[in-house]
Amino acid sequence: MDDAYKKRCDWYHHGESNSRAESDTKVTQWNDEVLYQAAEFLDEEFAYKVGLSEIAECDDKKEDEFLAKLADAETPLYPSCVNHSKLSAIVSLFRLNTKNGWSDKSFNDLLEILPEMLPKDNVLHTSLYKVKKFLKSFDMGYQKIHACVNDCCLFRKNYKKLDSCPKCNASRWKTNLHIGEIKKGVPQKVLRYFPIIPRLKGMFRSKEMDKDLRWHFSNKSSDEKLCHPVDLVTWDQMNAKYPSFAGEERNLRHGLSTDGFNPFNMKNTRYSCWPDLCMKKENIMLTLLIPGPQQPGNNIDVYLEPLIEDLCHLWDNGELTYDAYSKSTFDLKAMLLWTISDFPAYGNLAGCKVKGKMGCPLCGKNTDSMWLKFSRKHVYMCHIKGLPPTHHFRMKKSWFDGKAENGRKRRILSGQEIYQNLKNFKNNFGTLKQSASKRKRTVNIEADSDSDDQSSESEEDEQDQVDEEELSRWKKKSIFFKLPYWQELLVRHNLDVMHVERNVAASIISTLLHCWKSKDGLNARKDLEVLGIRKDLHPKTKGKRTYLPAALWSLSKEIECTARWSTKF
Ligand SMILES: [Zn+2]
Ligand SMILES: [Zn+2]
Repeated sequence: MDDAYKKRCDWYHHGESNSRAESDTKVTQWNDEVLYQAAEFLDEEFAYKVGLSEIAECDDKKEDEFLAKLADAETPLYPSCVNHSKLSAIVSLFRLNTKNGWSDKSFNDLLEILPEMLPKDNVLHTSLYKVKKFLKSFDMGYQKIHACVNDCCLFRKNYKKLDSCPKCNASRWKTNLHIGEIKKGVPQKVLRYFPIIPRLKGMFRSKEMDKDLRWHFSNKSSDEKLCHPVDLVTWDQMNAKYPSFAGEERNLRHGLSTDGFNPFNMKNTRYSCWPDLCMKKENIMLTLLIPGPQQPGNNIDVYLEPLIEDLCHLWDNGELTYDAYSKSTFDLKAMLLWTISDFPAYGNLAGCKVKGKMGCPLCGKNTDSMWLKFSRKHVYMCHIKGLPPTHHFRMKKSWFDGKAENGRKRRILSGQEIYQNLKNFKNNFGTLKQSASKRKRTVNIEADSDSDDQSSESEEDEQDQVDEEELSRWKKKSIFFKLPYWQELLVRHNLDVMHVERNVAASIISTLLHCWKSKDGLNARKDLEVLGIRKDLHPKTKGKRTYLPAALWSLSKEIECTARWSTKF
């Protein structure tokens, strides 16, 4: 959410006090510095503590190199410069370059001339090549994991040394198109994974941040207003189920948010980013950068694998972490509380269908859908049942589809019920459509690679319980079910209100102004005719022409023109 909005004087209506909004800027300011210090391992007490040193031991060498790089990056741009370090100057320039779409040549030319304009002894690089090399040396601490070009698998663990995908046989390496030679060592697709464990441990090395990390433990809302996820039922429910996890105030809860983004203003969306999220900007972590140009869709599970493994480790074993606030070590554990996404991404994360006959995730197999012949889309009916039994909308037949709806909404399936049903589901990832004969082979590979294969236990009994109709609306057994607590969660997936509000608002405005995403038109009116409702809106034929009668929402030509002008459609 826009920070400026939070600073408005009426923000307290949402349950947050003004003092918190005021402190926002301060928090952001110190954050960079604090994170930086944490990364530098400046905590001397940490180094002195005998016995604690082993935690950092294995990373020591890497850290020394990293420290040297940081020191170099923090050199002032020129001896008396107070505003820019070498790193901040290069990053600012690089940002301008990508934001304005400069060509490599123009950027290079600028770099050649700029150091001449700066005072003597400046440290600015003089070519694009050197700038890129400098930025690359930081590597951002991510792991590069090669992926099958068709999204079948990642080349890690058992597949680490393979040259082609074990499933679709596609080459792992790029091919030189001119001579048809495989360029070994140059991968076709690379997943960038930013491991979460070292970063979480780093956060506890900073005293200020450490304090914030346990904020939720003593700041539960006392007036029953929802100010923070700590006030939600899910939080309480999981605390009650796992008291030892809840008892440690430093244990963390995460949300996983998904979105596509375009890092270098390129014409097509090339990457999808999947950051961890918890309210404040500084607590958002980029965890996975999935290569494009197509979004991974249902195959997202393949790419989530390293993250889920780390989350499983953080739940099952915990990670020995030094806490700068209490100057002691503890086993840090973490839980993934839910995902936050738009509706199509929800389908990919949860693994259920969000289109077609069973497109309503709440109604599931009982979705009451209707195919609109002319508009060529499914619509989902009978949601008035969700209203209280005496709600006056239930009586307004003519407002809706001409039918009165009695009865009550059905119960939503719980995580355990979904898990039971999907228990023996064989996932089949990859974008290549496979013939039936090949598919059999694939299933075998899946079974081999599945390390926690538990299907051996009384399969026949379980098959009796599987609801085939319900099963038909699932595309996969989501990788999130590998998290031992996932099926216990009350709400596993959240829809991002911003996306939904934006789409609904765009449709309403477009319908009013008869443009862009308008839902009104000849096909919509013909569908009304087929359904036999809203007779006044049915299309009317006069001679060779068809007229659409003006609807209640139709604007007069003058107003429409003015409105279009002001909304820049
Ligand atoms: Zn493949
Ligand atoms: Zn529904």
